[in-house]
Parts: sequence; C-alpha cells; structure tokens
Amino acid sequence: MTPKIAQFLRDHAPATPCLVLDVDRVEANYRRLKAALPLARVYYAVKANPAAPILSRLTALGSSFDAASWEEIEACLAAGARPDAISYGNTIKKVSAIQAAHAAGVTMFAFDSEAELDKLARHAPGARVYCRILVENKGAEWPLSRKFGCELEMARDLMVRARDLGLDPYGISFHVGSQQTSTAAYEGAIARVAMLFTDLKDAGVKLRMVNLGGGYPVRYRAEVPGIDDFGMAIMGAMTQHFGNDLPEMLIEPGRFLVGDAGVVSSEVVLVSRKGKDDPVRWVYLDIGRFGGLAETEGEAIKYSFRTPHDGGADGPVTIAGPTCDSTDTLYEKSNYRLPMALSSGDRVELLSTGAYVTTYASQAFNGFRPLAEHYV
Ligand SMILES: *Cc1c(COP(=O)(O)O)cnc(C)c1O
Repeated sequence: MTPKIAQFLRDHAPATPCLVLDVDRVEANYRRLKAALPLARVYYAVKANPAAPILSRLTALGSSFDAASWEEIEACLAAGARPDAISYGNTIKKVSAIQAAHAAGVTMFAFDSEAELDKLARHAPGARVYCRILVENKGAEWPLSRKFGCELEMARDLMVRARDLGLDPYGISFHVGSQQTSTAAYEGAIARVAMLFTDLKDAGVKLRMVNLGGGYPVRYRAEVPGIDDFGMAIMGAMTQHFGNDLPEMLIEPGRFLVGDAGVVSSEVVLVSRKGKDDPVRWVYLDIGRFGGLAETEGEAIKYSFRTPHDGGADGPVTIAGPTCDSTDTLYEKSNYRLPMALSSGDRVELLSTGAYVTTYASQAFNGFRPLAEHYV
C-alpha cells in the first residue's frame, strides 16, 4: 500500500467495497520496466485495468496499448493515444470491430488462424499483422491454456499467406501465461520464435518484430523474481538467438504495471464457525468472486490481507464473499490465517489488487453493486 492510498483511506474512509489506486505507482512501475528492458516498446494490456486516469498517464509517458476489443480501442483514443500506438491484440475479433479499428487508423493486428487472417486481409487491407504462437505456460499462476496461439508450422504457413494476401507480415507474438514466476518461460518461447524467423526468412518473408507478451508477476503472498531478472533473461535469450540482428521488441505488461498500485478496501460482514469446536472460522467479506475477485477461482491468485488487528494472535480461516452462491468462496485450501480479534464491521484491505479486479465485477448479482473506484 502506498502512502497516498493509506492517506486517502484515512481521510475519506470511502464506502466499501472499493478499489483505491495510486496512479503515481503505475508511472513508477512503467519506469522500472523501461529500465529493465530499455529496447522494448511497452504496449499496456488495457484489460488489466482500463480506467481513464491510468490510460492518460501512460499516454503521457509515451506508452503504447494492447487492446482486446473496439471498446478498449475507443478508451485508448479517448485518453489521447494515437491510433498507430494501439495494437489490436485479440486473435478473435468481430468483422465490425476490425472495420471500426481500421477506419480509426489502427494498423496493427494479431491473429492465430487462417480464418482470422482472411478477415484481416479483407477488412484491414495492408495492415501490419503478427501471428501468436502456442508456448508453454509452465510457471504461470494464471495460465492461458490453448485458447490462443497456433503451432509453429501453422504460423509459418500463415505468415507466408499474410504476405500473399497483401498484408504486412510484421512479426510473432506469444504469452507465457499471467503471473509467470519463471524467467525460463520467456527463454523457451524466444527460442521457438527464433526458429520461425529462420524458417520464414528461407521462405522469403523477413519478419521484423517479436512481441514478448505479458506475464511479468506481482508480489502477492509469495516472493517472485524481480523485473530486472526478467529483463536479463529476455535480453540474454534475444542476443543468443538473434545476435546483432535484433528485431523490434514489444512487451504487453498488464498486471505488472497496475497490480501493486491498487488496494481493495472491504468490510467484514460476519465471522462465524460451523461447529462449536471447529478451529476454522469463516470470514465473510463484502467483496467476493462476483465483486471483482475472479482470479481467486481455483485459489489461483493469493492476495495478501491487512487488518486492524495485525500482529495479534491469529488462527485458520476460510474467506468468502457476501453472495448466496457457493462458488463465492475465495480461499478454503490455501492455509490463510487471520487475527482472532477480527469481527464484523472491521475494515480489511486486500493488497496489490489493482489488476484484473474492477472490470471483473458483476453488474448486480444478488443486488451487489459493482466495485467503486478511486484514482489518487
Ligand atoms: C492479458 C494479456 C496481456 C497481459 O498479461 P499480464 O499477465 O497481465 O501481463 C498481454 N497480452 C495479451 C495478448 C493478453 O491477452
């Protein structure tokens, strides 16, 4: 929690649940990332938190943007981003959205299939296109499975086809999975990209760009490697495979830029037990899975908690949200402990919740309103 957030909570005691996010911290994270990877252009993954104050600050810093929908593109443009600083990075796009992006001057598009490539050739003629390949997501706490990307051999054929369709075969992208805790994931992925560059050069297609995607982790409960470790591993692999002929490098950080800039403030609704001698207390908060904490599914992302009683005796807890849905249980198996003194009415902070929270909130499930947001 930054001093600005602490002061805002102290001075305003805003109604809970709410997110308070320090935009200066986003700027600091952007600068740290640029220092760790000075040769890479930053395309902020808008879906992590599309709030206007974040997009405006990043625009002022010279950031580019990775957008996944026409609506996200509009949000970037409204924040002052130039269309040529926006990459339409979703490999699954409606024709109407491709047309709107093309008409707005967006020139860079992702794809991972022949059908999508054909849509791009038709509705965004001449665009710079990059193919997303499948890579290992081992080491990622929020993996992306096989939903996006294609096999190398298919990527090779599709890039040749892109050229034949009159598109600009710009480069290759991958995503090693979100909250990636292993630097080796990037090294393995870069080796695969390098093979494709060679194959395509032999086929007469000279690629110019590697998009290293997102994945750079935030510290939650457990320690993670620092951004400098990722920078060194990535630059080491790039020079090992490309030598002096380095292509343009793009990165698409989401979580890393905004995650530790935000704090969710919530209220304890109830502390109870299921039996008189049950050692485990159930702690119900006024925010849960449907209030924005979607990444607690499978207890994948393990947020840290701060309470007014920290430092006192603690005991085991199951932590749940306020709705009448059994999946609205946040942590049952991850050995969370909270102070014995915790009781209903206490305010509890969930740390590093600036990413993938606000827009994951349901509209009004069980009548609960979406998360309030304060940018300071
Ligand atoms: C979600 C996403 C990102 C951001 O991932 P983080 O793990 O938050 O850094 C980057 N690129 C693409 C294509 C994405 O879908």
